[in-house]
Amino acid sequence: QGNYNQKIDYVLKVVMIGDSAVGKSQLLARFTRNEFSLESKATIGVEFQTKTLLIDHKTVKAQIWDTAGQERYRAVTSAYYRGAVGAMLVYDITKRQSFDHVTRWLEELRGHADKNIVIMLIGNKTDLGSLRAVPTEDAKEFAQRESLFFMETSALEATNVESAFLTILTEIYRIIS
Ligand code: GDP
Ligand code: MG
Repeated sequence: QGNYNQKIDYVLKVVMIGDSAVGKSQLLARFTRNEFSLESKATIGVEFQTKTLLIDHKTVKAQIWDTAGQERYRAVTSAYYRGAVGAMLVYDITKRQSFDHVTRWLEELRGHADKNIVIMLIGNKTDLGSLRAVPTEDAKEFAQRESLFFMETSALEATNVESAFLTILTEIYRIIS
């Protein structure tokens, strides 16, 4: 890490999707820079963040794309999904609607992304447990039915964030290597 002469074995494109304000940008900030902000600012200019890590003694550069406020249904373009080998489909455990919309995001993925894309369903904001509107079991069952990986996270408390990204990246690596 930080060594620009480093040989990169794999570049893996992963896209963040899900309704607005569920915490996609903060999950990415937590994973790539270990940062978190309670102020929601729209992504400006930067299309993706990268993080280089070692998986099975190989240098893997994760290139993680974030939507810049185009989360409305069907507003995310095909270019966003092009070449993606993974998707983090995020909902907010305190917002039932963001979970109900997961099926729409899956349709979007099936319409635009590679059919072998690895999908991780993420229930974010577990630190707000008293406001929970989506039971863990419901999401777990849904994920099982749809063959998605599933994890609950808190970008604020840094719970399971690293683990979620590592799980999807390792799974992608296992498939392509
Ligand atoms: P995005 O629109 O999906 O990219 O959502 P953001 O990452 O911009 O987050 C939307 C709002 O939710 C911001 O105010 C964040 O600070 C807040 N947020 C994100 N993740 C968490 C979390 O894990 N817990 C709490 N309590 N708030 C969060
Ligand atoms: Mg965002």
